[in-house]
Amino acid sequence: MFDKILIANRGEIALRVLRACQELGIPTVAVHSTADADAMHVRLADESVCIGPPPAKDSYLNVPALLAACEITGADAVHPGYGFLSENARFAEILAEHNIQFIGPKAEHIRQMGDKIEAKRTAKALGIPCVPGSEGGVSSDAEAIGIARAIGFPVLVKAAAGGGGRGMKVAQREEDLAMALATARAEAKAAFGDDAVYLEKYLTRPRHIEIQVLGDGRGNAIHLGERDCSLQRRHQKVWEESPSPALNVAARFEIGEVVARAMRELKYLGLGTVEFLYEDGQFYFIEMNTRIQVEHPVTEMITGLDLVLEQIRVAAGGELPLTQHDVEFRGHAIECRVNAENAKTFVPSPGTIRSYHPPGGLGVRVDSAVYQGYTIPPYYDSMVGKLIVHGKTRTECLMRLKRALDEFVVDGIDTTLPLFQRLVRTQDIIDGNYHIHWLEHFLANGGMEP
Ligand code: ADP
Repeated sequence: MFDKILIANRGEIALRVLRACQELGIPTVAVHSTADADAMHVRLADESVCIGPPPAKDSYLNVPALLAACEITGADAVHPGYGFLSENARFAEILAEHNIQFIGPKAEHIRQMGDKIEAKRTAKALGIPCVPGSEGGVSSDAEAIGIARAIGFPVLVKAAAGGGGRGMKVAQREEDLAMALATARAEAKAAFGDDAVYLEKYLTRPRHIEIQVLGDGRGNAIHLGERDCSLQRRHQKVWEESPSPALNVAARFEIGEVVARAMRELKYLGLGTVEFLYEDGQFYFIEMNTRIQVEHPVTEMITGLDLVLEQIRVAAGGELPLTQHDVEFRGHAIECRVNAENAKTFVPSPGTIRSYHPPGGLGVRVDSAVYQGYTIPPYYDSMVGKLIVHGKTRTECLMRLKRALDEFVVDGIDTTLPLFQRLVRTQDIIDGNYHIHWLEHFLANGGMEP
């Protein structure tokens, strides 16, 4: 096992990793920017190192500073959390060159899945069903028109280096395609420094269903069921649940096994999520994330497994502690991402939290790094925390979520809590009857009006 783990992240995920390390008895090092000197992850870690000024590129993305922090503290492993350097293959390699273990997949798999064109090619070769689209990137408008005609409009132009919903443009008709290509390219170039784009059929009413996997890098891999993340705004997940209201047991095991088999063949190491769109009973691969995800607690609640702890164990060379047969799915879990944003306008609301009271009780979990008097800095994402609720059935889970939301107090800033209070009382949500465009329609049609 590792002697000391440096957590190259901040906020709730830094705390989440810290908790797993503490339960494993491994000392921790927090790193922070000058803007985060008062942050909870700094207070709770055994040691902390300031790695630079507020902008992420000078601190949380600052590889030389992170290496120096490992050196000074004697950390022999780095947990990257999500975001920042978590899907940076070069970072994993640099750490390896310094005899420091990156807690994540092998660099080759991070690289392979980081390029979405390459990822789709790999998925297809592994027998995973994909969204119809271009075989690789599209280089000219003429080529794109040919492909779009073959797959049929509407089509989606996507960035090969895409992430966070950026560099994605829909073309409803042939006339829109040139514009969609140009904007997607420009956006991808600006956001990722890479303007390669590809085409996919635009699905009009799919659900987003993803499969959680865990592998030991030696050919053992299992799936931990699915998460339904169809409630999205601007391609960003807002609410996640498991099991999906749209799948039955047979469908879950069928797709789960397809994915687990692929991961065994890849000799995949660590946690990963294979994301699909699901429409008319068919799964279509869209991408794979090679890291812990924001919504992982939903899976933890229904399997009783600590995903971060398992991730650390396999990174240290441990074998998978369980077989597919040992994984049991119990009850239903829902996660709400509570952001520091106005619940109607979604305008960010950084500022100081005047009073804070998280809900509690049976089946209620709040993963957050805020506290009363804490000032949310304007430099990073706007998450206040995640509320995760577990119940024996989906109905019990919804009732518990409703009361937990009503108990949750965050004063001094705007949060998206009122959005969830409204959603949990909306018939389509109660019925589990929604798809990836549902939330945008709901908001556009005055769903948040009195
Ligand atoms: P990112 O890496 O930017 O998050 P993804 O490929 O994971 O991009 O897609 C994010 C979201 O965009 C999906 O959950 C879905 O809502 C939407 N999306 C992606 N591909 C398609 C598609 N072919 N048709 C319709 N919506 C899509």
